[in-house]
Amino acid sequence: MSMLELRKISKVYGQGASEVQALHEIDLWVDPGSLVAVMGASGSGKSTLLTIAGSLEAPTSGEVVVGGALLSEMSRNDQARMRRRSIGYVFQDYNLLAGLTSVENVSLPLELDGVSAKKARAAGMAALDELGLADRASHYPDELSGGERQRVSIARAVVGDRQLLLADEPSGALDSTNGEAVMRMILGACKRGVAAVVVTHDAQLASWAERVVFLRDGRVVDQTMSPPSPESLLQPAPHS
Ligand code: ADP
Ligand code: MG
Repeated sequence: MSMLELRKISKVYGQGASEVQALHEIDLWVDPGSLVAVMGASGSGKSTLLTIAGSLEAPTSGEVVVGGALLSEMSRNDQARMRRRSIGYVFQDYNLLAGLTSVENVSLPLELDGVSAKKARAAGMAALDELGLADRASHYPDELSGGERQRVSIARAVVGDRQLLLADEPSGALDSTNGEAVMRMILGACKRGVAAVVVTHDAQLASWAERVVFLRDGRVVDQTMSPPSPESLLQPAPHS
C-alpha cells in the first residue's frame, strides 16, 4: 500500500479574472521507504502539491489518501492528529521557533500531541543525536549555522514515528555539501521506512530519488526512475 496517494488532484485559486489553476489532475503515489523528488520552475505548483499532500490545504477536486485513509472522509480533528503524528514537514526557511532551543523545537510536536515533556525531550534528543546534533541540543536557532538549523528542522520532521516526510526545497538555502547532507538524512529516514517527497531545484540531488516528477504549469510533464539503489548513496561523501 502506498503511504501517500494523490488521485486526480486539481487546485484552483481565486475566482473569475484572477483565477489560477495551480494543479491539473495530478496523480502521484509514494510507497513506504521510497523517495520521490519533484522538480519544476517557480510557480509550477510544487508547494501547492506538498501542502495538499500534507492536508494543510484542501484540493478543489480529487482525493488525497494518506496511509490508506481518504482525507476527505476524515474529520478535521482526525486530520490534525494525523498531521501531528504521521507527517513531517521541512521548509526552506526552517521555521524554527527562535525562543526555543534545538531540543525544545524538535520535541514540540510530540508535546503538542500529548506526550509527556520528559518522553518528548528524550525522543527529541534521540532525533538530534541521529543527525549528529547532540552537542547543539541547548543552542538557540540564532546560535546555529544554516546547515545546523536545517538539520534541526529535519530532526523535528522525523521525530516520533512519522511515516511521511514532505520537504519543500530543504536544501535551497544551503551550499552543496550541506545540501547533500540534508539529502542523505532524508534517504536515511526512507531507509527506516519513511515515505518522502522532496521538492528541489538541484538536478544532482533529485537524481538521488527513486523517481523524479517534473511539473510544468500544474501538470506532470515527465517522470523518470533512476536506476542506482539508494544504498550506494548512503555512503559518506568523499569530501565530508
Ligand atoms: P511553486 O512552489 O512551484 O513555485 P506554487 O505551488 O507556490 O508554485 O504556486 C503555483 C501557482 O499557484 C502560482 O501561479 C501561484 O501564484 C499560485 N498560488 C499559490 N498559492 C496561492 C494562493 N494562496 N492564492 C492564490 N494563488 C496561489
Ligand atoms: Mg514553492
